[in-house]
Amino acid sequence: MKAIALMSGGLDSMLAARIVKDLGIDVIGLCCVMPFSLRDKAEGPQEGSRMDRFARQTGIPLHRADITEDFLEMLVKPKFGYGSHLNPCIDCKILMFKKAHQLMQELGASFLISGEVVGQRPFSQQRRTLQQIDAEAGTTGLVLRPLSAQLLEETVAEKQGWVARQRLYSFSGRSRQPQTDLAVMLGIIEFQQPAGGCLLTDPRFTDRLSDLMKRERLNADNVALLKVGRHYRVGAEGRLIVGRHEKDNQEIGRLAHAGDLIFEPPSAIPGPTALGRGIVSDEDIKLCCRVMARYCDRGAAPEIEIVWRAAGSSERSGRVAKPLSDDELARMRI
Ligand code: SF4
Repeated sequence: MKAIALMSGGLDSMLAARIVKDLGIDVIGLCCVMPFSLRDKAEGPQEGSRMDRFARQTGIPLHRADITEDFLEMLVKPKFGYGSHLNPCIDCKILMFKKAHQLMQELGASFLISGEVVGQRPFSQQRRTLQQIDAEAGTTGLVLRPLSAQLLEETVAEKQGWVARQRLYSFSGRSRQPQTDLAVMLGIIEFQQPAGGCLLTDPRFTDRLSDLMKRERLNADNVALLKVGRHYRVGAEGRLIVGRHEKDNQEIGRLAHAGDLIFEPPSAIPGPTALGRGIVSDEDIKLCCRVMARYCDRGAAPEIEIVWRAAGSSERSGRVAKPLSDDELARMRI
């Protein structure tokens, strides 16, 4: 008997998968790779992460499915709307359950496992919402939620006797203590408490994202850039991203593609790398240079030369620029 467990990297999904595995079911983990995940490389769905180590230790093979494109398409107009910020939690879960259902059919599995706990989140984990998610995803009766199963209707896995209901749990509400106690009991020591959602629940990030959705194309490329550096609006559709530290500067270089401009200080002067996207006019370039001049170490000099090149090209141009004032910068900041 096989089942597909949705794995997020958080404790609840680990517990859910482990509980069912311990009942003798052949559990296969599914990790949906999404564009706004908060989990970093150490925790997340990536190779070598905590989730990977958990999967290896428990003998649960992991499948990874990149749902970025479907997610971004849904994000423009989620059927069930947004939560407190731009988080479309109900539609997000529906998408993941659809993906899990598809994998279930492909691998000949018989049911799905999810780590949701009734009442843990105000928006997406209420009993009625869980039913609605299952109905929309076409998975009614197929999703076993081991942590709250005794409070929910019987699923096919219980009805068929594949898992014993009395070996499942009745956790509910926002307290994390029952999960922590269970983790200790099961010997799961490497876990973190949940951070409260993805980047779509972060007001600072969602301000940037809504600006992007109004003026530019919502695609994986543009979204990846939102996570890096300081952002400035240049003209109607242009954006300048200025690195805050060496890691940002490297990431900016990696994310640049044809059509982008790379701005840098002259080689002897310390300063950031910046990426201009949608920079079209000479006026826009001038403005980008003035933003850059603000962040370069120009000593007592009132001006500094900024150089730029098209991404992928080594042909450089330069312009002497005066730094913008803090007020001017603040007006452009996204
Ligand atoms: S917080 Fe983000 S990842 Fe979590 S359910 Fe909501 S939209 Fe999906």
